[in-house]
Amino acid sequence: MEECVFCRIINGKVPAEKVYEDDKVISFLDIMPANKGHCLVVPKKHTQNMMEMDDEDLAATIHAAKKIAKALSLSFGAGFNMVMNNGKEAGQVVGHSHVHIIPRFQKDRLRIKWSHLKYEGNEMKEYADKIKKFI
Ligand code: AMP
Ligand code: ZN
Repeated sequence: MEECVFCRIINGKVPAEKVYEDDKVISFLDIMPANKGHCLVVPKKHTQNMMEMDDEDLAATIHAAKKIAKALSLSFGAGFNMVMNNGKEAGQVVGHSHVHIIPRFQKDRLRIKWSHLKYEGNEMKEYADKIKKFI
């Protein structure tokens, strides 16, 4: 996976401001942060998205994400958003699975908010039934 920028960071071929590493996961600062201190938590094994990750890597990534979130909170007294973009429809740009941990401050200018829709009639149950069919 020579072209993948995160694989290149993992292999030490592209520099990154690393904050954490273990045998399965690496975490480094996002180069274009939503807030300063924004970290990416990246499984070392290349997969495109969460569906491709095995449960062991997923567990290791979430476990590391919690460590990073705690460190952000202790360093900056911040809350945080944990975000994982899966698929280009969801805004994923780098095709190597990763979780964003974004520190949040009382008066920052970041907005991670959506407008709320309404289900009509029986729609809510229909949506639940469609989802349950594949679980
Ligand atoms: P996503 O939209 O979820 O795919 O997010 C990809 C993130 O990777 C963006 O926030 C980029 O700023 C970040 N990014 C891309 N290249 C690098 C790099 N070389 N080092 C650190 N962060 C990067
Ligand atoms: Zn990769």
